[in-house]
Amino acid sequence: MLNEEKVFKDPVHGYIYVNDSLIWDLINTREMQRLRRIRQLGTSYVTYPGGEHSRFSHSLGVYEVIRQIVQAFSRNAYEWPLEYNQLVMAAGLLHDIGHAPFSHALEKVIGLRHEVWTERIILNPSTEVHQVLKQFQQQFPFDVAAVINKTHPQKLVVSLVSGQLDADRLDYLMRDSVSTGVDYGKFDLARIIRVMRPLDGRIVVKRSGLHTVEAYLLARYFMYWQVYFHPVSRSAEVILKAILKRVKDLVAQGQGPEMTHPALNGLFLGALDLESYFALDDTVLFNAFNVWQHSPDPILRDLCCRFLDRRLFTYMEYPDQDPDFYEKMSVKVKSQGYDPAYYLAVDETGTVYYDYYLGAEDDKDKDSALFLWDDDGKRLIEMSRLSKPVNAIARERQAVRRIYFPREVQWNI
Ligand code: CA
Repeated sequence: MLNEEKVFKDPVHGYIYVNDSLIWDLINTREMQRLRRIRQLGTSYVTYPGGEHSRFSHSLGVYEVIRQIVQAFSRNAYEWPLEYNQLVMAAGLLHDIGHAPFSHALEKVIGLRHEVWTERIILNPSTEVHQVLKQFQQQFPFDVAAVINKTHPQKLVVSLVSGQLDADRLDYLMRDSVSTGVDYGKFDLARIIRVMRPLDGRIVVKRSGLHTVEAYLLARYFMYWQVYFHPVSRSAEVILKAILKRVKDLVAQGQGPEMTHPALNGLFLGALDLESYFALDDTVLFNAFNVWQHSPDPILRDLCCRFLDRRLFTYMEYPDQDPDFYEKMSVKVKSQGYDPAYYLAVDETGTVYYDYYLGAEDDKDKDSALFLWDDDGKRLIEMSRLSKPVNAIARERQAVRRIYFPREVQWNI
């Protein structure tokens, strides 16, 4: 315990409280501080100018949500293993530690998986995070990694960090909503925490909390369409991917641009070690784009200018009824002087907002379902069986396909 509690002022939770010296020491590691230099929402800032918050503030928020949940569990003497409090708070704080800048684009083009790097950072003896965890308890780095990669035997602990109603989602929906100014992501977090119950190794919700949880699931649904799948933010991501692809292709031809930071060598030459990965942040990529906007390669130069100056690609919904549409567009784009490999992209978005199990009503083993706990304590009822709005969005995957290309391309001639 710390002699005096530390606080962070926070737009979502008011204050974030730290009483535990393990948590305080983890926050002060260089790996956690790096997350201040990585935007949580990638390219969303091109659409929502407020959407600039960092993965650091989100990570603190996830920790705070978990702290409030385990406190509520402890106050109420629910069947919650108190000895796991520090484990689950540390796992929540560290769950995003392996994220790269613009993770989703980078993962697709370069083939990095942030989960792999999270585990490497936590388990590698050279990192400060590892040292702090190990000093606390010899086994702790492995326990924390197991909670984050969902292999820890204590399922209750895992589900607070990743599940249908986990601290990660609870924080990011609210935080992304507050910072973008999009109002749909709001719900009553304090009441959600009040109606959560640990029961038989899973988190369930008191039946009287039905509408509170509905509001949370609908918030998630709205945020996907209003923020995460926003076509303009996706356009910036399409250009970002084209830049990465161009650099990769140039490197393969022995014509690679100047690597403005040693970490970029690792990124594009495929020999990324922990130290290089650690160095990657938004500033390294922005600086590279800044330099490459003067590159002798006309395609790289143009794409970097577009990204920095927000001259984004236009888009339209992909006409699925026309099987040859991509080919036709490809010919048009090419005839107007653009290489379709970099200037024409199909982007598909869509997710499942709430997944439930179609088996027996009381199948308690399925992780992906949310269960409501009847006040008589005798039975658990799967959420979508009681809630019409949740039933309406459950298992639905409303995918949208769009095709992106430069605004200047005359496509309807
Ligand atoms: Ca997260």
